[in-house]
Amino acid sequence: ASKLKQGLSRTRQNLGKQLSSLFSGGKIDEELYEELETILLTSDIGVNATHQLLENLRKQVKRDALTDSMQLKQALKKSLIAMLEPLAQPLDTTTHKPFVIMIAGVNGVGKTTSIGKLAKYFQTQGQSVLLAAGDTFRAAAREQLIAWGERNNVTVIAPDSDPGKKSDPAAIIFDAVNSAKARGIDIVLADTAGRLTTQLHLMEEIKKVKRVISKAMPDAPHEVLLVLDANTGQNAITQVKAFNDALNVTGLILTKLDGTAKGGVVAAIAGQYPENPPALRFIGVGEGLDDLRPFDAGEFVEALLD
Ligand code: GDP
Repeated sequence: ASKLKQGLSRTRQNLGKQLSSLFSGGKIDEELYEELETILLTSDIGVNATHQLLENLRKQVKRDALTDSMQLKQALKKSLIAMLEPLAQPLDTTTHKPFVIMIAGVNGVGKTTSIGKLAKYFQTQGQSVLLAAGDTFRAAAREQLIAWGERNNVTVIAPDSDPGKKSDPAAIIFDAVNSAKARGIDIVLADTAGRLTTQLHLMEEIKKVKRVISKAMPDAPHEVLLVLDANTGQNAITQVKAFNDALNVTGLILTKLDGTAKGGVVAAIAGQYPENPPALRFIGVGEGLDDLRPFDAGEFVEALLD
């Protein structure tokens, strides 16, 4: 938990400090609510989530007859946990074998790095992993995965290194799924090239990748993980929408929470979909292999606002 705290330090400094000084004692009045609103809005929590939090807070103040602002910190934590709890839906990979996970997202958000971390995570859970180097666009991504696979004794299905040969990401992942079936592997992690949501031909291409995967195994991919960079703040919401429209995203990874003061985006995601919250499977809090952890709302809020 202290690792998480350390990882969230920039958001803690920004949001946590401001809240601590606001909740340092004194009357709970309209002025205080207004200041709180400003702090939340400038922490990338977003309009929807900010309003939901304030509404919930006002209810608690009334119900519990709170009078001193010092009591608000606990109340805010409670509201925040209640709001983030629905996002915490751990990924169950035991439903299929192999369990095929397709990774998608915008360029540079941390897809390839997250695949390495996920492979390590599943291995420590006792599951065998196979990687599919489906990012055939960025040469470094292929090398990154192969190097990672060698270091960790994990098979990587990758395209031919001949640069003159154009390789098809769908074909690579198709082969990887078949190979995993033949070898009795538990989990396939399939990388895909980064793409902007405005590059419509690339969004079409990734839909095709998904369709081809289902030809290798009827229900596959069993998980479509969208990787988001916390630094993009509110923009992450736009990415969720676009990728979801194209692929039916089943889970999210939010990376780089350590490098940003915009950790409030977690609440923005929750606030955007109060009826049907997406599953935030993992959060990335550093560049190291162990810096990916399943999202836990209580742990997250405690680390953020202790
Ligand atoms: P891709 O283009 O989406 O595959 O992105 P990469 O996996 O190549 O990552 C881009 C950069 O982000 C690399 O320098 C990674 O080390 C870095 N990165 C990825 N995840 C995290 C994270 O959780 N925290 C930090 N600080 N850096 C990260």
